[in-house]
Amino acid sequence: MAARVIDGKAVAAAVRQRVAVEVAAFAEEHGRTPLLVTVIVGDDPASEVYVRNKHRACEEAGMRSAHHGLGAETAEAELLELVAELGRDDDVDGILVQLPVPAHIDPDHVVAAIDPVKDVDGLTPVNAGLLAHGMAGLVPCTPAGVMELLRHEGVGLEGAEAVVVGRSKLVGVPVSRLLLAANATVTVCHSRTRDLAATCARADVLVAAVGAPKLLGGDAIKPGAVVIDVGVNRTDTGLVGDVDFDAAAEVASAVTPVPGGVGPMTIAMLLVNTLAAARARV
Ligand code: NAP
Repeated sequence: MAARVIDGKAVAAAVRQRVAVEVAAFAEEHGRTPLLVTVIVGDDPASEVYVRNKHRACEEAGMRSAHHGLGAETAEAELLELVAELGRDDDVDGILVQLPVPAHIDPDHVVAAIDPVKDVDGLTPVNAGLLAHGMAGLVPCTPAGVMELLRHEGVGLEGAEAVVVGRSKLVGVPVSRLLLAANATVTVCHSRTRDLAATCARADVLVAAVGAPKLLGGDAIKPGAVVIDVGVNRTDTGLVGDVDFDAAAEVASAVTPVPGGVGPMTIAMLLVNTLAAARARV
């Protein structure tokens, strides 16, 4: 195996440690610790696990967290009122509504109702617009985690060919904006891209965010490329990414594993955002 395996767990642990130190300094200065409030509607078991992990991470970083668990039948208007109330509550720094919400609720309405200065998921139209304009705002956690991994690995982005596979609001689009802001030459691929492998094979930096197990094989990877695999796919043989890891490891210079690559970065960057939101409101 030629490629270096990028250890997302270690990078995430370093970020979380750094945040803990900064939270202590914030508390010393302001006499309070940042507060993240999470909301779940319904009883999706995966959401429960994600949110529990977020609360544990807050606690380890010395931050406060609180939770609202709403029944699956909750009306959209009731959820919007709760989100608005959290926006008005001066003690709340970060608001996170765990998606998905039940089908009778429009997730776009919910996200748009979050006060942008407390939008620690970075998904509101205001924060998406700030990112599109290259202005400071809260950046979605997984894309921010991808950039942190690239920074940590010392990957030179200036003038590099970057290819992002996926154009979701959650990952593909924001990661492509961040790569562009870092002066990479960015191509975004999606389900209608004609020759996916050939386009990907141009990339010095390849970011896969699709949700298709091992979609990208060795023919999609330029020798020496850095490969960041955001995909998380449950298969009979366990969790796999969007990239064929073994094939990538033969060709790339560095590759993230699944699990243990991008995944741990998401929570670490949520903590970064919650602290940033608290700082922005003092
Ligand atoms: P999504 O909203 O479903 O978007 C998937 C994107 O992939 C779409 O833009 C789609 O294109 C594109 N696509 C689908 N099939 C394709 C194909 N055959 N060739 C090229 N492009 C294709 O998914 P997402 O929310 O961005 O998540 C992507 C993956 O990342 C998932 O596996 C998810 O579980 C994972 N994820 C991981 C983390 C983490 O913390 N590690 C966080 C978020 C997401 P169209 O736009 O044309 O439909």
